[in-house]
Amino acid sequence: MVAPLMVLRNLTVDFHSQDRTSRVVEITEFEIGAGEAVGIVGESGSGKSVTWLAALGLLPTRARIGGSAMIDGQELIGAPAAALERIRGKRIAMIFQDPSSCLNPVHRIGWQLDEALGLHRGLQGAAAQAEALRLLDQVGIADARRRLSDYPHQLSGGLNQRVMIAMALAGQPDLLIADEPTTALDATIQAQILVLLRSIRRDTGMALVMISHDLGVVAENVDRVAVMYAGSLVEEAMGADLFGAACHPYTQGLLAALPALTGPRQRLTAIPGTVPDPGSVPAGCRFAPRCPVAEPRCRREAPPSRRIGLLHRAACHLEVGVGRSVWAMQRAAE
Ligand code: SF4
Repeated sequence: MVAPLMVLRNLTVDFHSQDRTSRVVEITEFEIGAGEAVGIVGESGSGKSVTWLAALGLLPTRARIGGSAMIDGQELIGAPAAALERIRGKRIAMIFQDPSSCLNPVHRIGWQLDEALGLHRGLQGAAAQAEALRLLDQVGIADARRRLSDYPHQLSGGLNQRVMIAMALAGQPDLLIADEPTTALDATIQAQILVLLRSIRRDTGMALVMISHDLGVVAENVDRVAVMYAGSLVEEAMGADLFGAACHPYTQGLLAALPALTGPRQRLTAIPGTVPDPGSVPAGCRFAPRCPVAEPRCRREAPPSRRIGLLHRAACHLEVGVGRSVWAMQRAAE
């Protein structure tokens, strides 16, 4: 992997409510290289988004965040609000599934871009307007000059998504965190936005974290994939290794639930049960209640993260072999 740009170490997120504290994220170590594209996958409730909201100081005050999240050696956890304001947008930008969470409905697109350019790069007046036009052009918005006068409600969902990406690029960030960036879009617009993100990365050298529940979206757009379950990382590998030789039963379960594009038709396998509620995470391996090959020790001891190969790690007690999906074996035995 290239030199780390961002490092998460012993990062924890606890939510306190009434008389109990629930741990929703626990990540021992995770790195992102400069210019690298990493996908974070897992079911809803796996802690994918919370991890990055915590790192950027965007969680409500009832969240207790521990450990470390560093960008280029600068600590974000516990950093003063003013320091975080400078980093957000400038070094790290985040885009979301719903553009309305970023765009202000009562201000024109041009005003919002001007504000971002002034805040992050000190651009004002004609310089800011010229850069706003360039950004809209970069994200593929036709007739950019006219669009600067539009309000968000005058644009389609796909165009608003492009404006949100332009706003994120306004600070020329080193890292873009895209949280389910295409989930709300139809298939054609989704493909266009993914092509756009790829071309921006190629042109700018920006690193990308793509959070998605859609393994297909991640497979085509990242170099490396990390799988999260119930707040922790269970497997990490380069894309080809993960999709071709997943080792963790949870990753294998996610892949077994995908239809094959070629070959004979096969019955899809759903992982039984659901991600545990943060307040009732089981002892030992968090996946044990849903794992078809769980052993007694799985319910007692949390599995350490083991190295499977170069840049391939999995947290499982079993030496599950390459290509031997526990779900396929289970299906064959039925
Ligand atoms: Fe399954 Fe045990 Fe591995 Fe957890 S540690 S995934 S329960 S085999």
